[in-house]
Amino acid sequence: MQTAKKIESQLSEFDIKKIRQDFPQVLQTKVHGKPLIYLDNAATTLKPKSVVEAIAKHYQFEASNIHRGVHFLSEHGTALCEQARERIQDFINADKSHEVIFTRGTTESINLVAQTYGRSFLKAGDEIIVSEMEHHSNIVPWQMLCAEVGCVLKVAPMNDAGELVFEEYKKLLNAKTKLVSMVYVSNALGTVNPIKEVIQAAKEFNAVVMVDGAQAVAHLPVDVQELDCDFFVFSAHKIFGPTGMGVLYGKEELLNKMPPWQGGGDMIDQVTFEKTTYNDLPHKFEAGTPHIAGIIGFAEAIKYVQGIGVTAIQKHEQMLLEYATDEISKIEGIRLIGTAKHKGAVLGFVMEGAHPSDIGTLIDMEGVAIRTGHHCAQPVMRHFGVSATARASFSLYNTKEDVNVFIAALKKIQKMF
Ligand code: PLP
Repeated sequence: MQTAKKIESQLSEFDIKKIRQDFPQVLQTKVHGKPLIYLDNAATTLKPKSVVEAIAKHYQFEASNIHRGVHFLSEHGTALCEQARERIQDFINADKSHEVIFTRGTTESINLVAQTYGRSFLKAGDEIIVSEMEHHSNIVPWQMLCAEVGCVLKVAPMNDAGELVFEEYKKLLNAKTKLVSMVYVSNALGTVNPIKEVIQAAKEFNAVVMVDGAQAVAHLPVDVQELDCDFFVFSAHKIFGPTGMGVLYGKEELLNKMPPWQGGGDMIDQVTFEKTTYNDLPHKFEAGTPHIAGIIGFAEAIKYVQGIGVTAIQKHEQMLLEYATDEISKIEGIRLIGTAKHKGAVLGFVMEGAHPSDIGTLIDMEGVAIRTGHHCAQPVMRHFGVSATARASFSLYNTKEDVNVFIAALKKIQKMF
């Protein structure tokens, strides 16, 4: 347990005041007459001023389509988008910038791999492993693939703390395992999986490994070469960027082997009615006009995070998580859902006698935004015997005072039930 004094000193090192000024309007918003306390960061983060301004600048002064033009604005837009790719390459330490494919987000990235790599290289009887704590985005695309090609989905279980049972995962691996797709940090539980070990174990069976990094990139340092994953996917909106933008990182060799996904402009080399040949990476997987403003905003978001440092963010969030966990544990009648030893800044819970959606509605009246429901992880809910949980999730602009308001609001709500 941390003392209040230690918490304060960590906060000042982090310069939380300055960080909050980067989100000037939204952090001063009032909700139902109360100052907004935004604790729904696992759903989406707030956007710093620099990101909003970069997007507005594109639309106000620089709007144009990229790749196809020789005029100034088109070339400028093209350069910005390719610089964005390089920034993301640097951020996740990909070997090559063309290993970074722009998509609409984590969900689309996973579907892309399932529909291209999966359809081409998996066959009846092959096995895919996911974990019990996956987001639906990392379950359903594989089920769809299984229905199509006859491969089999295997599920690595978790224990009652919400931790992957590594020994059981290892038992599932065999010569038929062709693909492992696992979440790095669970959105419903906060569990940080031992993803490097997961990848290493899969590699012993030559399985391809995809990592769902949606809840990881904004909260812990990611190095895809160090992890040695084959695919790594995430969404811009969970790391201070715009919605409708995301990344599929894939190793060049695999991406080159995969057929394109969507057909259209930009992804082609030559088109005749007899035969079409395809463009090189990364464009082979980027059919049509991309979300240009989104790419520009995404790069600005990554720049923002790089300016602060993911390790510093992680330290701050861990301090908040520990403090919030200590405080909420003092409230009788609250059960934490997700008590893994290694956790990201997610606090899931249920309150005796109160439905999570009622907690969500009542706490909103206090200005506190949390998420309630199944968090697109119904198997997780089933494991814990609940239909829904309430979830507070923290980010770099949250403070100890935010936690205090949240805890006080919970105590007030509890009295109503
Ligand atoms: N995977 C995880 C772990 C998530 O938390 C989410 C979103 O909450 C997703 C996948 C899907 O992300 P998106 O809706 O941005 O595609």
